[in-house]
Amino acid sequence: MSTPDPDCIFCKIVAGEVPADVVHETDHSVAFRDLSPQAPTHVLVIPRSHFPNAAELAAGEPDAAVDLFHAARAVADREGLDAGYRMVLNTGAQAHQTVFHAHLHVLGGRTMGWPPG
Ligand code: IMP
Repeated sequence: MSTPDPDCIFCKIVAGEVPADVVHETDHSVAFRDLSPQAPTHVLVIPRSHFPNAAELAAGEPDAAVDLFHAARAVADREGLDAGYRMVLNTGAQAHQTVFHAHLHVLGGRTMGWPPG
């Protein structure tokens, strides 16, 4: 397992040092509601381990990367997103990644546009 980053807000959520509205947990992942929801359901699924993005997570802890997707599906099921949902992995500043701890956005409950902004 990678070392937690003491300056990382998501590492603090994993450690229970910052409160979060947790909706699902596994051995590898924690899922909680986004503070600034962009859809009726907007949940972030994050690995317990600190990696700067999903690609680095997949390289460093492949089991945890796969678990992220299983956890996302569990969240979608639990939230009743039967009509569909979007999974987003912003990677890098130009792609609007603002928190550099890997996270998978699960968005649903409204019709989505394409292309994304
Ligand atoms: P990014 O832009 O893909 O990096 O997404 C980061 C997301 O984290 C944004 O949607 C923020 O609203 C969300 N966020 C940042 N801090 C917190 C927090 O403390 N709790 C829940 N969501 C957060």
